[in-house]
Amino acid sequence: MNHGCIAYFSMEIALDPSMPTYSGGLGVLAGDTLRSAADLKLPMLAVTLLHSKGYFRQSLDPSGWQTEEATEWDVPKFCEALPTRVQVTIEGRTVQVRAWRYTVNSIGEHGVPVFLLDTDLPENSAWDRTLTHQLYGGNFHYRLCQEIILGIGGVRMLRALGYHDVSRFHMNEGHAALLGLELLDESARWFQRTSFNEEDVQAVRAQCVFTTHTPIPAGHDKFPLDHVARVLGRSDVFTMRDVFCCDDQLNMTYLALNLSHYVNGVAKKHGEVARRMLTPRDARHSYQIDHITNGVHLTTWASPSFAELFDRHVPGWREDNTLLRAMANAPKEAVWHAHQLAKSLAIGEINRRTNANLDLATLTIGFARRFTAYKRADLLLNDITRLREIAARVGRLQIVYGGKAHPGDEQGKRIIQHIAQTRNTLGPEVRLVYLENYDWEMGRLLTSGVDVWLNTPLPPLEASGTSGMKAALNGVPSLSILDGWWLEGCVEGVTGWAVDGAAGGKELTSENQTPLDAASLYHQLEHVVVPLYYGNRPGFIEVMRQAIAHNASQFNTQRMLKEYIAKAYS
Ligand SMILES: *Cc1c(COP(=O)(O)O)cnc(C)c1O
Repeated sequence: MNHGCIAYFSMEIALDPSMPTYSGGLGVLAGDTLRSAADLKLPMLAVTLLHSKGYFRQSLDPSGWQTEEATEWDVPKFCEALPTRVQVTIEGRTVQVRAWRYTVNSIGEHGVPVFLLDTDLPENSAWDRTLTHQLYGGNFHYRLCQEIILGIGGVRMLRALGYHDVSRFHMNEGHAALLGLELLDESARWFQRTSFNEEDVQAVRAQCVFTTHTPIPAGHDKFPLDHVARVLGRSDVFTMRDVFCCDDQLNMTYLALNLSHYVNGVAKKHGEVARRMLTPRDARHSYQIDHITNGVHLTTWASPSFAELFDRHVPGWREDNTLLRAMANAPKEAVWHAHQLAKSLAIGEINRRTNANLDLATLTIGFARRFTAYKRADLLLNDITRLREIAARVGRLQIVYGGKAHPGDEQGKRIIQHIAQTRNTLGPEVRLVYLENYDWEMGRLLTSGVDVWLNTPLPPLEASGTSGMKAALNGVPSLSILDGWWLEGCVEGVTGWAVDGAAGGKELTSENQTPLDAASLYHQLEHVVVPLYYGNRPGFIEVMRQAIAHNASQFNTQRMLKEYIAKAYS
């Protein structure tokens, strides 16, 4: 049964707009990967946690400060409870784990099963019942317990469900790396030993694949090794230190690296950054880290009006995404019409939710994603006077912001507050709106319904980014820092525009980078983007259709998954 299937492990997966089981790009990528796997009829299955109380619902208080509430969702409406139970040990207690099955359906008949692990069972203690409630909730101990359930419980659940012939375990980020410990134990048992050794490490490496997603240190979980030993109730994590740790920490990224035969970053540049950043304790050799650039699932992210235009102009695009190259000569009026439809949907919804009173004729810039310091969401507001002056002299602007900060990220929350408070200081030429509770649904409306998609991360910290790919698919060109996927996707003036503080010839330092990047952003707006939008509409539409033709045909999860099949799964 289930010969040679691929088991994809991810702490978050965006499965349905009404299931708040994701926080941002990582979860959306995981969901898009599974949707493309279903399209390609790949023998894949996935494991995650149930997150029955979701990530959180965001609202802003009158001062613009983010507040959070749990978001319960109707689990049985989407998932089927399975009778199978497995056990994991946490601090000496036996914790019962069950799974709910969700099926990712595709454009054909093939479904990809997803097993959502759940410990909220009457047999468990009150604390253990909370362990699958909240995505990225609690402290480091809560996180470790969740990762034990995901990694160790996940492998045990697959075996209990009859999946004995998994050919690849794919760790989507390091959260699932404890699956390696379970596979080491399985291997030792198979060799009839009571403890694992180097032979088992080789056996596990042959089965595992690891994708690392961020150069940000907070994205790499580390736990004190003595704490891990106590929670797991085993001291063998202290043996084979080169596999489990650096110093006295269990480092989930290094565990995944040491137990995988194929490792990749998520864009060409990110591969280079990861190779520089992740070096083994034994410096005589280095990790082989490849890259596979991310993508998006096109049929999920195309607005209705563009899906209809593609159906007319490039039939077969859902089955073969590369066909979208033919959009390079789609009729310009049809492209503009599809965009105006998407834009009126977005603006209608924004005006319903807020008192922003946006209009269809004004150039609208969108910025929405997780809020965290390196994304520099307020770069556009670096010099308010300059921004107002451009809008007054060259052409009016509307700016739409959205995005959540992690509940523990004070800096991210301060950036949201700064933006919310700036709203009142911009004057009549620049309308600014901050949309609360940005999510999948709002993401679909915004990435298709603004005119220009803005991204201003501090390089080289944006591993890939995917929202700009969703925008390109819908004929919305990016105006972005050259980092992550945009280094590959930007053809200046053809698919969009670069923001690059070094463009003026000055050398960038940590002090001057942000002001120089802001200056480059204002320069592009003043001299290129705003004049093109208001003064040369056919020229602007040309960029729109080249964005689709070049970028949607390339930056999709169908192409991405074919690379995983060739490089990691076969
Ligand atoms: C696509 C998406 C993201 C990822 O955005 P980036 O710009 O790549 O960081 C985050 N959140 C939601 C809801 C998305 O749909």
